Formats: sequence, C-alpha cells, structure tokens
Amino acid sequence: MSVGVGAEQQQVTGVMVHHSAVASNEGEDEAERLQGYQRYHQEQGWPDIAYHVGVGRSGRLYELRDPALVGDTFTEYDPAGWFLVLVDGHFDEQAPPDAQLDGLVEVLAWASARFAVPLDDLASHRDVAATTCPGERLFRRLPDIGAEASRLAASGGVQLEPTCPSDDLADAWRPEET
Ligand SMILES: [Zn+2]
Repeated sequence: MSVGVGAEQQQVTGVMVHHSAVASNEGEDEAERLQGYQRYHQEQGWPDIAYHVGVGRSGRLYELRDPALVGDTFTEYDPAGWFLVLVDGHFDEQAPPDAQLDGLVEVLAWASARFAVPLDDLASHRDVAATTCPGERLFRRLPDIGAEASRLAASGGVQLEPTCPSDDLADAWRPEET
C-alpha cells in the first residue's frame, strides 16, 4: 500500500512497465490523456502522476514525475527504487502499435544507461502485485522488447532531449556526461 506522501527521494534500481488500462485511439491528444491521469492521481493526494515517463500511442515520450522521486501505486507493492514506465493504452483489449513499442524500446535503452540498470529481466507490474497490468498483449512482448532495448543501449544508446523542458526536470533528463 502506498498512500499520500510519495515525494520521497529514490535511487533507481530497476525499470517497471505499466499500462494505463484505458484504451487508446488514433488521433487522440496524448498529452491530454496523461494530464487526465495526473489530475486523477493528484486527487488521491499524490504529488504528481504516479509514473516517471509516458509512452504515447504514437511512440512519443512524455516526462512525467521526476525520476528522483518515488512513484505511487493503487496496488500492494513498494514503488521505491523503480523507474515507472507508463505505456498508454489497454493491452488486454488492444495490441500496442509498433510505433509505441519503438518508443518503449527507446526509453528503456535510455533508462538502462541513465540509471545503470540491466533490462535482461524487465519487470512489469504483474510481477510484483495482483494486477493484469501491463496487459497480456504487451506483457508477452516484454522479453523481446527488453532484449532489443539492451542491444540498443549496448550499441551506442539513445540520446533523449527535452523538446519542452521544465526548469526542474531538465536536469533530471539531461544525459549524464561521461
Ligand atoms: Zn501497473
């Protein structure tokens, strides 16, 4: 159970995949969908949307909660240490579009390098709590997706640059200089 607070700092030690369990349709406003979840989550007393990054149906990536802060959940697991990836859609009801899977691979490769976490055993919500999340049709793709993201990370990785940076999040998302 995770109630309220949620603003504690964390060190990311793993990456976990979720879906929104809200079916998506082509042409919808992806940011508006995410803002809807954000409002709903803030109504729970949480400081922000529960997840750290969103992957829209188009494959576009959206900065959500600052990854330096622990996420939140309606289910019974401790989100501390997890970088929570929200793939927006209902993947018990629909298949994730290829473009969205490509976006997921990109952000996983990025996160693997950014947080120095392996993706060979990519976690999903159902691994740790009683839920069907991230939906069967995404869940069964995850071994391949994790492997593809690992290959991408190993072959030079991914640079993600904010296209609309906010002051406090730009630093969190800037690739670490090496
Ligand atoms: Zn979930």
